[in-house]
Order: sequence, then structure tokens, then C-alpha cells
Amino acid sequence: MEKDRSINMMQEHPVIRCFNISKWYDNICALNNINLDINAGEFIFFTGPSGAGKSTLLKLLYLDERASQGEIVMNGMNIARIPRDRMPYVRRTLGVVFQDFKLIPTRTVYDNVALVLEAAGVKKNIIRQRVLKVLRITGIVRKINAFPPSLSGGEQQRVAFARAVVGEPSIIIADEPTGSLDYDSARVIFNLLLDYNRKGVTILVASHNLHLINETCKAVNGKNPTDGIIRERHLRIVNGVVTESG
Ligand code: ADP
Repeated sequence: MEKDRSINMMQEHPVIRCFNISKWYDNICALNNINLDINAGEFIFFTGPSGAGKSTLLKLLYLDERASQGEIVMNGMNIARIPRDRMPYVRRTLGVVFQDFKLIPTRTVYDNVALVLEAAGVKKNIIRQRVLKVLRITGIVRKINAFPPSLSGGEQQRVAFARAVVGEPSIIIADEPTGSLDYDSARVIFNLLLDYNRKGVTILVASHNLHLINETCKAVNGKNPTDGIIRERHLRIVNGVVTESG
């Protein structure tokens, strides 16, 4: 059935707006004039072939790369032009999950997660409470004193997820978060994304896992089928151009 987005026009509240975004790497055009609004509480899936521009778009949003052209307004701030010294403040409103986890191998699970709050100047006793809470939510608290290399991929991604959410972000960006996980571990990560979306967090996830995407779509749309609000969107990127699909 055709989704009727007009039903919730009044409730739409863009948290991310991309205006004519392009990104070149030397003479390679990775993103070509992207215009995109993402609303608060949406669950966005980015799909598309390898090299299409998914990671590049997500990198612009989590401030790992700068747009060559265009504006990105996130939570009312123009992040495409933000001075470097302001970047940490913007990053703290985001939780980012990577395919390769990016944990610090020489620090314990606890420290990997706590570092986010230490950098933000949070008091030690509050840090402990919040780290324990997210490690329980992600089901990895029993490994609190372990070092990442001793954990499985699925366990490392739970830790990375805990690190992404410990700062209570309003937006979670996940770039192929299950790309190196087995199906069961991947499902755990998608379910965590779904849980946070249900708490109102906006989710942007690039993934190739079509089966899990379909399952998650059903769960997102099925949570409150009578309210008429579509919260899941499927965006396909091909050759640096975004189209709405699904
Ligand atoms: P996807 O995530 O969809 O696989 P990417 O965003 O990684 O695609 O890449 C989009 C295009 O930009 C590709 O042609 C890729 O080779 C190129 N690209 C990405 N990052 C760089 C980089 N750091 N330097 C040069 N080219 C890059």
C-alpha cells in the first residue's frame, strides 16, 4: 500500500536538513547535489551499491568529512561550515557506530565507554552509573573488565553501541554496523537500534542486510499502526544521488 506521508506533515520536525550537498575527492564526485530532510524520530535506512556514497554522506553528518559544496543544518546549526573548535559539541549530540567497532584495544570495556563522558566533563559517580546502565542495556556488562581483543565481533559491537549511546544522543548514525557480524549478533544490534528509535532517537543506518532491514521496517511501522505516522524511510544512494524507495 502507498504510504501517505501527508498525514503527518504537521508533526514533521527536521533535525537534519541537507541543501545541495556535494562532495568531491579530487576528481571523484562521491555525492552529487543532495537535498534531504530527516525528521525527528525517523528510522532511516541507506542502501545502495558499494562506492555509491553512503559512507561519505554519513561522514559529513558526523563531521568526519567536510562538504565541498552546500549546507547541512543539524539541530538548527550549520555543521557544514562549523569551526573546528565547535565540532566536539556537535559530535556529543550524536552516537556513531562503525563496521569495525573502533574500540581502543588497550582499554577495558568500561573505559572505552566511560571515555565519552570523561571527555564531556561528567562527574565520576555519574559516569559509573551511566556506563553500567548502557552496558546492561547492550547485554555486555559481564565483560566490563575485559579488553576488546578478547571479545567476539558481536560483543565488541555491543560495547561500541554502548559507547555510542552513553552520551544520550538525539541521533544515532551507524555505518554498516553489522557488516562484520554473524546473523544473530547483527540482529542484536538492529534490535538495539529499534529500542532507541522507540525512545525517540533518530536513527540513520547504512546497511546491506536486506533481511534485517525488512524485519526492522516491519517492527518500526508495526509499533503503533493506528497513529498514521510513518517513521521508517528507505533511501537508496546510487552514484552519489539519493532517491526515496520502498
Ligand atoms: P559507499 O559507502 O556507498 O560504499 P563511499 O561513500 O565510501 O561509498 O564512496 C563513494 C565514492 O567516493 C567512491 O567512488 C569512493 O571510491 C570515493 N571515496 C570515498 N572516500 C574517499 C577518499 N577518502 N578518497 C578518495 N575517494 C574516496
